[in-house]
Amino acid sequence: MVNKSENTYLNLFNSQKINQFSVGNTTYKARIKKLNRLKNALEFTYKQRLRDALYSDFKKPQLETDLTEIYPVIDEINFVKRNLKSWLKPQKVETPISLLGSSSYIKNEAKGVCLIISPWNFPVNLTFGPLVSAIAAGNTVILKPSEMTPHTSKVMSDIIEELFDDNEIALVEGEVEVSQELLKLPFNHIFFTGSPQVGKIVMKAASEHLTSVTLELGGKSPTIIDDTTNLDKVVKKIIFGKFMNVGQTCIAPDYVFINETIKTAFIASFKQHLDEFYSEKASESNSLARIINRKHFERLKSYLEDASLKNATIEIGGSYKEEDNYIEPTLVFDASEDSALMKNEIFGPILPVKTYGNIDEVIDYINSKEKPLALYIFSKNKKTIKHIINNTRAGSTCVNHNLLQFLNHNLPFGGSNNSGIGKSHGYFGFLEFTNQRSVLKQHTIGAVDLLMPPYNNFKQKLVDLTIKWF
Ligand code: NAD
Repeated sequence: MVNKSENTYLNLFNSQKINQFSVGNTTYKARIKKLNRLKNALEFTYKQRLRDALYSDFKKPQLETDLTEIYPVIDEINFVKRNLKSWLKPQKVETPISLLGSSSYIKNEAKGVCLIISPWNFPVNLTFGPLVSAIAAGNTVILKPSEMTPHTSKVMSDIIEELFDDNEIALVEGEVEVSQELLKLPFNHIFFTGSPQVGKIVMKAASEHLTSVTLELGGKSPTIIDDTTNLDKVVKKIIFGKFMNVGQTCIAPDYVFINETIKTAFIASFKQHLDEFYSEKASESNSLARIINRKHFERLKSYLEDASLKNATIEIGGSYKEEDNYIEPTLVFDASEDSALMKNEIFGPILPVKTYGNIDEVIDYINSKEKPLALYIFSKNKKTIKHIINNTRAGSTCVNHNLLQFLNHNLPFGGSNNSGIGKSHGYFGFLEFTNQRSVLKQHTIGAVDLLMPPYNNFKQKLVDLTIKWF
């Protein structure tokens, strides 16, 4: 672990800067070796410690840790292993006839020294996932995980310390001030995952050095259910997507629009399947994590109180246990537009539901808000699905399920504007940490060489012909 002391971060940064070419010139085989060591740590040597740490931090169930923290990083590593050789091959491109005598290629080179700042909600996945892309691209990296999951950060720090030298990859633990200090340094790329509010701070700091950024942000992700679905199946999927990690998931359905004709059936089905998943005493279920800390617990509690004051109806749930940071899975109808529940990203186990008559009302509503990170559509009607996709904007869409788009590494993952800038996963994540360097090589004297000063009528004619014909 890197200690906090004056100039530590600058010294660390400088040591990585010096080392960047040696790391950037490693072969794909050497990079895969490093990724295999990380994979081995996650799959075997540190697996139980990570499970225990996540349970200590917010009682994350073991199965959720395996499925949503460990598996996605291992899957990302496997994907990179299958593809890295071809991604690193110089890519020959055509050269126009006006540049006759030359050849051209694109070299995917490392950006250099990178900073990865990650959030607390999927601390392993969102710290090591981008790290896999950064290693694949040949960068040196400083990692700054969230201060809100100290047990998990400690285990990740031990993994990094065991596997890498500081001048290649280092993990820095600490409070927000640590991120603020790091953000003063002239990184070659910053990959930030967190809230749009802090994303703006990161982008501002990056602009001082014209550092490129990837911003994986959040927001309110809408879900639409029309009247053509098998409601029971849909409700199960939504309960899974919304209450996994107790709703502390950037791509969880934030609120749901249902066709007004299915309201009664929707509530009944929701109650039945919630009980099935978490038993009637959800607070005793070992399939539900806890709210990350008292501050977020209080925030969510205040959202519920505010919604009730503004005449919302709590159809299911609504109870909480302060001593355990527990909030019951809750279904709310008629939350007013000026309630905190409808204005802010919820990031917890509260699901507001709105009813609609005509799908265009839904589209207009969504388009009146910031572009969401995810938009979910449950429908059997192909025309409705196409109509919604064509008339809205979102970072990603999953049709007839939720969350699953995150797991396909052939798809770019990320938001748009307020929900993010840039993409991650697979080739898209690799590109984010890569400079696509253009190389043009001249082999023999070319047409342009005939056009050098002094200019004359003959050369002017050559230019005229070039504009006309090439
Ligand atoms: P956050 O923005 O509060 O913090 C994220 C990171 O930034 C942490 O490491 C924190 O230490 C650091 N940070 C906080 N304040 C800072 C400041 N003033 N200056 C510099 N650094 C600062 O986010 P969070 O609460 O950890 O995570 C929740 C948010 O992240 C939600 O909005 C969620 O939607 C979003 N998120 C997005 C994705 C995605 O992939 N798009 C994934 C997970 C979470």
